[in-house]
Amino acid sequence: MGCNFRIGNGYDVHRLAEGLPLWLGGIEVAHSKGCVAHSDGDVLIHALCDALLGAANLRDIGHHFPDNDAAYKNIDSKILLQKVMDLLRKKGYELVNADITLILQRPKIQSFIEKMQQRLSAVMQVSQEQISLKATTSEGIGFVGREEGVAAYATVLVEKVKGS
Ligand code: MG
Repeated sequence: MGCNFRIGNGYDVHRLAEGLPLWLGGIEVAHSKGCVAHSDGDVLIHALCDALLGAANLRDIGHHFPDNDAAYKNIDSKILLQKVMDLLRKKGYELVNADITLILQRPKIQSFIEKMQQRLSAVMQVSQEQISLKATTSEGIGFVGREEGVAAYATVLVEKVKGS
């Protein structure tokens, strides 16, 4: 009997620059800096997309949405996440759960976690309980600590619910 469960992991980094909007977990967080990117730079969603694609052996986000394609210029990453969920479901998979860690020095995002969970679960058409979000600083060291960038890790479990 084959196993119907598969795991996936994703990692993403974006550079921070003054005066750009900061999109994290599908919401805009008020801050003096935002992510430099071809899309809206939502590093949390990008890591999540890569974890989902990895779990279903569907390559990665850059394969499906190339950053030299004008169609994806400044695109809302929630649209990419929606497309990734479509790809996943087309292959017969459903999300079991996702566990995501955001690594940034500033601002504190504890107060935004619930809104991010709401937003992501609505986009993915799953329950809020399936999306765990955590945040940590890097204790002032490295590129995150110097506030030069923000990083995210995502782990997901998916289950084959149809097809062979
Ligand atoms: Mg990215």
